[in-house]
Amino acid sequence: MNAVCVYLSSSEGLPTHVGAIRALADEMARRGTTLVYGGAHRGLMGTLADAMLAANGRVIGVIPRALVDLEVAHRGLTELHVVDTMHQRKALMFNLADGFIVGPGGLGTLEEAFETLTGIQLGYHAKPIVFLDVESFWSPMETFLDHSVDAAVLRPEVRRLFRTASSAGAALDSLIAAS
Ligand code: AMP
Repeated sequence: MNAVCVYLSSSEGLPTHVGAIRALADEMARRGTTLVYGGAHRGLMGTLADAMLAANGRVIGVIPRALVDLEVAHRGLTELHVVDTMHQRKALMFNLADGFIVGPGGLGTLEEAFETLTGIQLGYHAKPIVFLDVESFWSPMETFLDHSVDAAVLRPEVRRLFRTASSAGAALDSLIAAS
C-alpha cells in the first residue's frame, strides 16, 4: 500500500473530524504512505495535506484548472497535477492510488467514493476502499444501505463492499489486508 487516495470534504467539518484527519495524516506519514488527494487547500482536504506535510509525508494533489482558485489549490505539495476536467482528476487520483480511504464529506466525497465502490461491484478494479468512521459519521449511510437491501434494490454481497474503520491505523490495516 504505497499510495492511498483520501476522499474528504472541502468544507471545515467538526473539531472531532479535524482531529481524526490529523491522526490519519500522522499515521500515513509514519508508515511512509504517500497521500493522493484532490489538491485543495480548503476544508478537511487542506487540513489533511497540511498535517501530512508537517509530518514530512509525501503528498500528491490532483485538481482541475477550473477549481484552482475556487478550492484554493495547495501550493506546498510534493506534486500538484493541474488537469482539465473532473473526470481526469478522478481518473488520475484512481491510477496513482493503491487503495482509498473516505473521510467525512459531502456530495463530492460521496460521488468519488461511490464511483470507486461501483467500480468494484462491476469488476472494473479490485483496489480496496474503507470509510473512516469518525464519531459514527457513516452510521446513517449504513442504515440507508440496509434499507436498500431490505427494499431488494441492493444485493447483500454488494452491500458488504461498504466497510468502515474506526481509526486511522485500522483503516490502513484494513486496506493492506484486502489488497
Ligand atoms: P465535497 O465533499 O462536496 O466537499 O467535495 C470534495 C471534493 O470532491 C472537492 O474537491 C470537489 O471538487 C470534488 N468533487 C466534486 N464532484 C466531483 C466530481 N464529479 N469528480 C471529481 N471530483 C469531484
